[in-house]
Amino acid sequence: MSATTAIDLKSCPLFINGKAVNSRGPKDIQYNPATGEAMAEVPRSTPEEIAAAVEAAHNAFPAWSKTPVIQRCKILFKYRELLEQHAQEFVELIIEENGKTIEESRGSFDRGIECVEFACGAPTLMMGETVERVGRDVDGWSTRNALGVCVGITPFNFPFMVPMWMFPMAIACGNTFVLKPSDKVPRTAVRMVELAHEAGLPAGVLNLVHGAKQAVDCLLTDARVKAVSFVGSSAIAKYIYQTAANNGKRVQALGGAKNHTVVLPDAEMKTAVSAIMGSSFGCAGERCLATSVVVAVGEAADPLVKELVQAADKLSVGAGCEPKTQMGPVITSDARKRILSYIEIGEKEGAVLARDGRKDPVCKENGYFVGPTILDKVNPGSRVAQDEIFGPVLSIVRVKDRKEAIDVISRSEYGNAASIFTRSGAAAREFTQNVTAGMVGINVGVPAPVAFFSFSGWKNSFFGDLHALGKDAVHFYTEQRVVTCRWPE
Ligand code: NAD
Repeated sequence: MSATTAIDLKSCPLFINGKAVNSRGPKDIQYNPATGEAMAEVPRSTPEEIAAAVEAAHNAFPAWSKTPVIQRCKILFKYRELLEQHAQEFVELIIEENGKTIEESRGSFDRGIECVEFACGAPTLMMGETVERVGRDVDGWSTRNALGVCVGITPFNFPFMVPMWMFPMAIACGNTFVLKPSDKVPRTAVRMVELAHEAGLPAGVLNLVHGAKQAVDCLLTDARVKAVSFVGSSAIAKYIYQTAANNGKRVQALGGAKNHTVVLPDAEMKTAVSAIMGSSFGCAGERCLATSVVVAVGEAADPLVKELVQAADKLSVGAGCEPKTQMGPVITSDARKRILSYIEIGEKEGAVLARDGRKDPVCKENGYFVGPTILDKVNPGSRVAQDEIFGPVLSIVRVKDRKEAIDVISRSEYGNAASIFTRSGAAAREFTQNVTAGMVGINVGVPAPVAFFSFSGWKNSFFGDLHALGKDAVHFYTEQRVVTCRWPE
């Protein structure tokens, strides 16, 4: 690491009531995905530690929610400044924990910063509505009020950005927070929480615990927790949604994805190929907005597959810290095994292996590498076309026309994102109005909304009502009070 840190990241402390605490729970080893070497010990927080973190957040809530919103945001401005000062350290940490390339790591850091900037707008975003004279001598108005203790449970694939979807806005709105990051990438979160305290966040406002199912279950059943934000796979998202809701909490649970990109014969082929390469193989395919199925319409298919294979042959795969690397490893050895097994499933299902990433020399190294893999002539009903593989495996489904392309997408259980490449405004319009996905791209490979729009997955990609980011986030982290007031003249 280039920068020195105040605390020992290798032991991954918890943060409870403003203090770094070493957990008494059992420890798991965290491995560097690019080398397979052990990097740190990740504790599984004990139920007592989880309860202490919730208690600290609960106790901090009255004073924090009464702190003027401008004051709360001043701390976030300072936080943003500190994060920028430590940008290089975060970029390196994300590469080390997650395996991203330098460019991907920096990009995800920048997108995380944008969420802090968005949260700094809380004074305006929290404004209510007023109508004078709703009756004789009567005025009506609404205010937005903090909920109490909020919880965030985050996935491995964006160690910095996804937690930023949650706690900056939650605390800007006056809530207190307990973050439970992925047990695979806990150290980025430790530094994020540590710097928030350096920025002046009072003790107890932002707490950090580690662990997986047991830690999460303690949080979901604690009566003091009022709201739960989750991002991860669909099966767990559904479980979180049901369990937290059964325990009387407000929930937003963002799940997995299987995103389609449609390429029409009139598309600008170079643009489409370069965007699909970035979307399918960027972040080693471990992105909830990754294109994992290309739906090639009519005569677009042959040249598209040819150019994708050529581009994939040139992709430089290796350790993320190397400047020449364009695609890094996947997260764990288990993830690698799962992805490789899907390539076999694809072959058994009759797909044509247009490019076999298993044969790339880098796959023999100790890191968890899988080369870019392209399965052509995939049956749209097959498992490789339907299941979330979450790795660098791209399926090509060939269809005859636009209508069939939209039908293929509508049959997916997921509905996170979908893109179309075309030069036709009418085709793009038809697509955006009929496709069953919450985030739509037109000539864009990764249709990631900027922080002031909501992150809007549909179907099994989302469980809840109010999405992450945008106005939804402000509504999710506040409840409304409507006042009806009579003052006779
Ligand atoms: P995951 O579901 O395995 O884990 C997510 C979180 O849940 C982690 O903090 C983990 O510790 C915890 N967890 C794991 N098992 C649990 C259990 N049985 N009970 C309670 N909590 C549990 O997801 P992941 O592998 O870390 O991340 C990849 C997944 O996240 C992919 O499916 C991807 O599509 C999804 N994702 C979705 C979005 C989105 O915006 N929809 C964004 C990023 C990632």
